[in-house]
Amino acid sequence: MLRSHTCGELRPGDVGNSVTLSGWVQKSRDLGGMTFIDLRDRYGITQLVFNMDVNASLCEKARKLGREFVISVSGNIVERSNKNTDLPTGDIELIVEQLTVLNKSNTPPFTIEDETDGGDDLRMKYRYMDLRRAPLKSNIELRHRVLQETRKYLDSEGFLEIETPVLIKSTPEGARDFVVPSRMNPNQFYALPQSPQTFKQLLMVSGFDKYFQIVRCFRDEDLRADRQPEFTQIDCEMSFVEREDVLSTFEGLIKHIIKTVQGHDLPEFPIMTYADAVASYGTDKPDTRFEMKFVELNASTQGQGFNVFDGAEIVVGICAKGAAEYSRKQLDALTDFVKRPQIGAKGLVYLKYNQDGTTKSSVDKFYGDDARMAICKAMNAEPGDLVLIMSGDKAQARNAMSALRLEVGEALGLRDKSIYAPLWVVDFPLLEWDEETKRFHAMHHPFTSPNPGDADKLQSDPGAVKANAYDMVINGVELGGGSIRIHQRKMQEQMFDALGFTKEEAEAQFGFLLGAFEYGAPPHGGIAFGFDRLVALIGGSETIRDYIAFPKNNSGRDVMLDAPSEISTEQLKELGINLP
Ligand code: ASP
Repeated sequence: MLRSHTCGELRPGDVGNSVTLSGWVQKSRDLGGMTFIDLRDRYGITQLVFNMDVNASLCEKARKLGREFVISVSGNIVERSNKNTDLPTGDIELIVEQLTVLNKSNTPPFTIEDETDGGDDLRMKYRYMDLRRAPLKSNIELRHRVLQETRKYLDSEGFLEIETPVLIKSTPEGARDFVVPSRMNPNQFYALPQSPQTFKQLLMVSGFDKYFQIVRCFRDEDLRADRQPEFTQIDCEMSFVEREDVLSTFEGLIKHIIKTVQGHDLPEFPIMTYADAVASYGTDKPDTRFEMKFVELNASTQGQGFNVFDGAEIVVGICAKGAAEYSRKQLDALTDFVKRPQIGAKGLVYLKYNQDGTTKSSVDKFYGDDARMAICKAMNAEPGDLVLIMSGDKAQARNAMSALRLEVGEALGLRDKSIYAPLWVVDFPLLEWDEETKRFHAMHHPFTSPNPGDADKLQSDPGAVKANAYDMVINGVELGGGSIRIHQRKMQEQMFDALGFTKEEAEAQFGFLLGAFEYGAPPHGGIAFGFDRLVALIGGSETIRDYIAFPKNNSGRDVMLDAPSEISTEQLKELGINLP
């Protein structure tokens, strides 16, 4: 028997028992005639004691153990005189009578502690050791819990888990595909799925009216901090549903997960239109943990001689509660923040509504007492508040203000990780005009249906059509999105037409789906959640990497495997690929 208990479970009730534990040597201390070792496994840490006076050779053996050696020990549990209240097992210790070294370890390249001294690259290279550290270990455990609760809920709601292929066909829509050469079909390639979108729709045509899959998806995009080339989705689809049915089912899923995993009851999710989200928060994924909504100030600021505002399409302000005391330095830092190239604003105007009722702004030259007061009034500001104003064309000014709002919200402590502020965003535009290619793109994807009343406009005024699509947003994170789909051939053809596909192109790429719509396709709709992001959100972090056992680094590499890598000439030849 290599263990009778784990290193996390022994308590004062076990005193007097003889036990066997196995695990890794976390740390050892020699104090006079005694040696203490912290033994660690997945479940916790237990203190081992070796006594020179009782068993000198055993104690000598213990003194030779290095960090991360794998050992098995047997002995008796005693109560500790010097209790450690930080450890669940801190009331007891194990007086070791037998010690077996199961395997040695080289000195680890970084410390296996909650706070490690290892840099990112080193820890990625030795990921298997990094995963021994308690914070990462508990992230992986959290991921497991969320996986299980997802399956439990969807199963209880009658969803079937169905797998779809990983080797599929490349399509030019959406992001770039990862492709896989086919040996048996020279010069031909599979693509890895960006999502199982068309398959899940075909499953609806097959009559599996509630489908889900926890599925790996692949997108060959430029990487950002919270992106991985392969990531996991909770992918779902339902038949005979309208928008409200989908929203309530998946609001239920997220409530179930947060309740069972964290014990929080979430309130009903409010529904916000895309237009309102953009006007009030400057983004389609607003962080609604705090207000600080945008107020348009064109009427109260234009025509008073300040050229910058006069020439702007929009003048927009936010009110930072209680921040009138901000110093020159703090205000300069905010100005620098919005001028960073990623944000690209030209400047920032501030207006302080002081506690004593006076006002002071960075543009007093143009706005006298009354004009400043009028702005405060428009902003609903109170004494002690700070008003921050930007201007420009709508998209750019709102974008910049959205970033500033988050920055100020963070500084004022309004983005509390223990609070969840969920919402649905609906009524997105169906199509987005792309100036570069001079054509429309589907904002969600080409299978999304127009809002029920808007279908007629698809041909006459495509840009004005709203999509029957929805995103779930929590704390400024877009957790999932989906739509009610097109299920009629004619409308799908109109959609492809609006997207600039010729009939032949549509047929070549999506003929299988158009064909299926002619054999009894039911009305259907669905959603997909970014699973890694969901787990990271619940874990209180923005880095999805920390919740994936073996992630890629920021350049899309697996530094442990050293992938991607070159392949042999043999392999290339077999695939019929001639590299220059
Ligand atoms: N397949 C879509 C996506 O990956 C989600 C959906 O519409 O269900 O974004």
